[in-house]
Amino acid sequence: MVCMSGFKSGFVAIVGRPNVGKSTLLNAVVGEKIAIVSTKPQTTRSRITGIKTTADAQLIFMDTPGMMRPRSALNRHMVQIVHEAYQHVDVILLVTEGKGADQIEAQIEKDNLLLEHLKEAHTPVFLVINKVDLIDKRQILPMIEAYQARYLFAEYVPLSALKRVNVDELVQTTIKYLPEGPRYFPTDQLTDQPERFLIAELIREQIFTRTEQEVPYQTAVFVEQLEDTENRLLRVEATIFVERDSQKGILIGKHGSRLKQIGQLARQEIERRLHTRVYLGLWVKVRRDWSENEQLIRDMGYV
Ligand code: GDP
Ligand code: MG
Repeated sequence: MVCMSGFKSGFVAIVGRPNVGKSTLLNAVVGEKIAIVSTKPQTTRSRITGIKTTADAQLIFMDTPGMMRPRSALNRHMVQIVHEAYQHVDVILLVTEGKGADQIEAQIEKDNLLLEHLKEAHTPVFLVINKVDLIDKRQILPMIEAYQARYLFAEYVPLSALKRVNVDELVQTTIKYLPEGPRYFPTDQLTDQPERFLIAELIREQIFTRTEQEVPYQTAVFVEQLEDTENRLLRVEATIFVERDSQKGILIGKHGSRLKQIGQLARQEIERRLHTRVYLGLWVKVRRDWSENEQLIRDMGYV
């Protein structure tokens, strides 16, 4: 985790009906190579689908649970999960397609379920009008007005994901809504296990805030196990590596009190981010010179 003053980071959900161009938009924003295509079946927790890093910000795109499901599958419990997910991202991008005046009302009807959900969110929502390459530009304003009558969006962004028109403007506008925060992921290298990486960083973040200066810089966190279990419980086992016995003592604290506190706060943060209940097992090990141990660093995703 790299903390720089003025740097912003946050979590962005892309939602919308099938075929409006969500995947194309994600690829246009983060680039084909680093848009993470998950082949895993969708679960009830959120997954990271892509990461965009600029000079002054990092956007972490999340695939929030339940979003692609038809209404019939949205039972009460699912609706609850969706609402939780909406609360805990920093920006929601509602993607829809540009349409001619005669088709706008019919399309708003189709988006209505999502619009109803969004009313519950206390998170800024942008209306992203995609595929504007297919319509007459004069149709954009009436479309914005028709949507505005149903829902007051924070921003209205017409673009073409396919032709890459106005995509960078969307990124810049999104950054305005992000809080100051760390660069969770390295700029160029991208791990194929972003959730593991994020969890390790969230644990490190708590170590930073709970211990004296000298300890954190010589600390590495390695998520050894990450497993979805029944009842929306994500099981995480992680090891904190330090270089000296004295650091281990500081981290663990009296009767384990500091480690317990770090674990609790990190768990809450992971739950908030991945929208699921978490069991977090934390271990502290002394591994001398870990920072010079290439294989370990590689395993942890730093290289
Ligand atoms: P998703 O289901 O929301 O993820 O939609 P996709 O990204 O898979 O896109 C659905 C279809 O719309 C594909 O054939 C895309 O090529 C097409 N598409 C996406 N964005 C645009 C756009 O800006 N303009 C045009 N003309 N087609 C687009
Ligand atoms: Mg898609």
